[in-house]
Amino acid sequence: MSFDPDDIWVDAIKGLNHVPQQKKRRLFRVAMVCAVGVSYLIDTILLFLFCVAGTVECAAPFYYGLAGLGHVVLFSLLHWSGISDRCRNRHMTLWQMIYAICVQSLGIYLAPEISPFFLAIVFIIFAFGTLRIHFSEALIVWLLTTFVIALTLFLNSGRLTLLEGTLLEYLLVAVSFSLILLRTIALGYYGYATRSRIFKLSRAFEEKAIYDALTGVYNRWMLSTLLDEQFNLYSRKGIPCSVAMIDIDHFKRINDNFGHAVGDDVLKAIVDQIGSEFRESDKLVRYGGEEFILVMAATSLSEAIALVERIRNRIARTHWKEVPDQVVITVSAGVTEVQNGDAADDPLIRADSALYTAKQGGRNRVVVNGEAAVHHPRL
Ligand code: GH3
Ligand code: MG
Ligand code: MG
Repeated sequence: MSFDPDDIWVDAIKGLNHVPQQKKRRLFRVAMVCAVGVSYLIDTILLFLFCVAGTVECAAPFYYGLAGLGHVVLFSLLHWSGISDRCRNRHMTLWQMIYAICVQSLGIYLAPEISPFFLAIVFIIFAFGTLRIHFSEALIVWLLTTFVIALTLFLNSGRLTLLEGTLLEYLLVAVSFSLILLRTIALGYYGYATRSRIFKLSRAFEEKAIYDALTGVYNRWMLSTLLDEQFNLYSRKGIPCSVAMIDIDHFKRINDNFGHAVGDDVLKAIVDQIGSEFRESDKLVRYGGEEFILVMAATSLSEAIALVERIRNRIARTHWKEVPDQVVITVSAGVTEVQNGDAADDPLIRADSALYTAKQGGRNRVVVNGEAAVHHPRL
């Protein structure tokens, strides 16, 4: 199903999970037309009150209300039947605007005494409509509106009168403008709420894009960004940086013996253990299934070895509540330092080869640049 920007609202509709997405979208568009209907209703009631006050003919609220009802029925049917699904702009905003402008021109024709009232509604139509149409379409409606409104005013020029000014009429004018302002606020708020929703969604996507869903540490797509930062600091200021590749030993056995869900819990617990050893400036990346890269900022090789050795030792000594007491979990690690003339992947290649040596050497150990620098017998 193609992309629809309305989904940022449609997906928030609660309690309609069983309804197909396309139907929910249509429902949303019908709801928007009904909101326009509420606006027509407010204006019709105001016109009726102007009629009671003797300002306008009684035909004005009748025909204006009928035209408003026509708008709601026509566009609701177009949405509900699925006809509007075939349009590029599924709200048919351009056509709704043209229809609504014609209704305002009808209003001026029927009640020229209060033409400023209808002109103010034209502003609401533009504010609402231009949220969804292209600039070129907005220009078309602008030209059309200028022509239609100018023509209507011209045809009614003899009947455009200022209010005589009874108290009731003044009151009605004040209420009309107040309600027009209120609708402007509602529109502004709709725009604001839409922007906030988009902002929240984009933040959520951003988080998904950089963090690993299971463990909460950075995912491998962030690795090059993190390494680039350190490469920059190294080449500009000579600040050292070390990298460790840490892999859980015989992790497959945990899955095989206790199930994948326990395996997941152990992965999270191990990440917690690693996290409690390193500093805020160090960054942990989930590089593969049970393989992690630790990027240690401003850390020389010897400091890095000490840090990774602490991590190895801590993990080997931990009693895991996720698995039976006798199960010992260990990690192997390859450590290296960023060096002069390193290409982007070079530290990773060295750390990987050091890790390979650690595995070959019997696991549960830290190896530097492929050489067995620190050796620990298995616990
Ligand atoms: P080695 O000591 O040589 O690293 O042995 P190993 O068993 O740890 O390595 P191997 O590459 O043979 O297996 C890795 C296992 O990690 C296999 C895979 O099922 C498991 N694994 C990878 N990602 C996940 C995960 O997200 N959750 C769980 N539960 N297991 C995972
Ligand atoms: Mg492993
Ligand atoms: Mg592995």
